[in-house]
Amino acid sequence: MGRDLRSAQYLEALGLESWVLRGPAAPPASAPPSPLPPPMPERVAGLAANWRALADEVAVCVRCRLHERRTQTVFGVGDPGAELLVIGEAPGADEDRQGEPFVGRSGQLLNSMLLAAGWPRSSVYIANIIKCRPPDNRDPLPEEVRCCMPYLHRQIDLLGPRLMLAVGRVAAQTLLATDTPIGKLRGAVHHFGTRGTPLIVTYHPAYLLRSPREKRRAWDDLRFVRSELARRRAAAPGGSA
Ligand code: URA
Repeated sequence: MGRDLRSAQYLEALGLESWVLRGPAAPPASAPPSPLPPPMPERVAGLAANWRALADEVAVCVRCRLHERRTQTVFGVGDPGAELLVIGEAPGADEDRQGEPFVGRSGQLLNSMLLAAGWPRSSVYIANIIKCRPPDNRDPLPEEVRCCMPYLHRQIDLLGPRLMLAVGRVAAQTLLATDTPIGKLRGAVHHFGTRGTPLIVTYHPAYLLRSPREKRRAWDDLRFVRSELARRRAAAPGGSA
């Protein structure tokens, strides 16, 4: 489904959206008949429309009190057709200002680690458990998570990632509905949601900035993600290693 959505977005970027959504324009009476392009599957156009509708809904959300102090919501960034969906905790001050996840110091570390593992930032999709900045960098409250999680669920449904990477305790424990410590969740493939999307857990880059010796373990996690992705890609219908 993610790849369908990407196709829709490429078409949109190519200026073909109006053709897709409104249907072919009638040719001028004097023009010679020209073959019509094949109709775009409605499902693909529908996905792009759903994605935009979701982003618009999030942008004006007032489900919890975090909206009172935000500069803007932080929906997510990256390639909607990506195989890998990275999920963090919540926007911080930089993200609240710029409207994009992981743009501060921890974002720079995340980018470097992803790149080293073979994924430029633009080749994955990055989102957070909640879309608004909690004050003073506190953890999201259970009520805030409860209000916001349906948005992430809908994003995951539309993106259809091959694998999810939860970065940090809050993301991991929320997605897996557990209070097991992160150290015990690492190193295994978990499953998320009704589709059972594979999910791997690693440390949050903010923690790695405070505890650089743990970077080696985080690197092991990314290599694990890489090998799982390769294995699942090869096992998929028509897949190759
Ligand atoms: N930390 C997160 O978990 N998410 C961000 O977007 C930024 C910092």
